[in-house]
Amino acid sequence: MSHPSIDLAPVDAGRLRVELQAFARIGYSADGSINRLAFTRPDLRARQVLMHRLRSLGLAPRVDAFGNVFGRLPGARDPELSPVLIGSHLDTVPGGGRFDGSAGVVAALEVAAVLRERGPVLGRAVEIVSFACEESSRFGRATLGSGLVAGTWDPGEVLTLRDARGVTLGQVLARLGLNPDRLADVRRNPGDYTAYLELHIEQGRVLEESGSRLGVVEAIAAPTRLRVDIAGRADHSGATPMPLRRDALAGAAEVILAVERIGRRASGVVATVGVIRAEPNAMNVVPGRVELGIDIRSTDPTRKAEVAAAVQQEIAAIAQARSLQSIPHVLSDEAPVTLDPRVVDVLERAAAARGVPAVRMASGAGHDAMQMARLCPAGMLLVPSRAGISHNREEWTPVPDIAAGTQVLLDAVLHVAEHGVR
Ligand SMILES: [Zn+2]
Repeated sequence: MSHPSIDLAPVDAGRLRVELQAFARIGYSADGSINRLAFTRPDLRARQVLMHRLRSLGLAPRVDAFGNVFGRLPGARDPELSPVLIGSHLDTVPGGGRFDGSAGVVAALEVAAVLRERGPVLGRAVEIVSFACEESSRFGRATLGSGLVAGTWDPGEVLTLRDARGVTLGQVLARLGLNPDRLADVRRNPGDYTAYLELHIEQGRVLEESGSRLGVVEAIAAPTRLRVDIAGRADHSGATPMPLRRDALAGAAEVILAVERIGRRASGVVATVGVIRAEPNAMNVVPGRVELGIDIRSTDPTRKAEVAAAVQQEIAAIAQARSLQSIPHVLSDEAPVTLDPRVVDVLERAAAARGVPAVRMASGAGHDAMQMARLCPAGMLLVPSRAGISHNREEWTPVPDIAAGTQVLLDAVLHVAEHGVR
């Protein structure tokens, strides 16, 4: 990691703070939360501000047909070599915080600012990105922008996704003057980027508990999601004696505890029942039907599959013992993503060279980097989240931690833009 220019390129924590505040004002609500749901006015405003920043740094912005914003730093020595891409996203969940996504975009802007002012001329260009619609809150699917770039999603199918009001994504894009007919053009090819690097807040408590200041992500967990319909019989709660009941909700309660027990027993896997809907949901009726939503995650595909199988077995056993019917539906079964070990090494060495206490870890949350890893070598840095709180107005990361992470990001960008990923 010896690069003579590194010491000449310190990041500016004051400038990072000002930029973070600038984005935190967009979609700011009186209760202190940030509301930049994908493709709403505040989300677009944030992207306009980003484009303004890119222009003032001399990075001519480019917006693709889905609204992903790119800006390339001019002046690479070798225009034949593919650029190093850095960034994250600017959309938020409803009632979100000011750091999820924004921290990574602001870090990328700071890297560009330092390189523009004081950086050496590098072999490869550096490009900034803010991916559109990273959060699943509006259209029920996460990492839409980066997944289109990486070729994960079918553009035709993406256009048919609907929000809670029934508006399709195709209609939304058309209304915003984007180009749904050209959505296929968003996709990039392997080799178009030398690497993708993303800084993000941790959204968990691993860093805080371990006393580390930085996480270098080795793998990103992916969910297997099940919906289980449990059917019993809706009966009068007064007139039906206990032995004659087929109570779907009591069965569901056993399932919930079984999922927790199986998740606790397995190492490196988390299992959650996060959704429950009971019918008819009335005081005087034995519940006849229950729907459960189960989310199982791991970075180890084998263990995740074992847990999913154990959960399904247990559900069948509980249903049989209680004379209920249970029908599991696998909603999604995504493969965990391993980030490029060479990029992990570069990031880890960069942290060590700066004396930033770093730890290798898995990310339990999904990110744009997980999509980009299909396209090019990808790496991620996680900065601590106070008390692990995220998707909430209480979300907090101290600026010095973001600055330390941005410094490591900058050093890694200098290295990769000069030497590539080897
Ligand atoms: Zn995020």
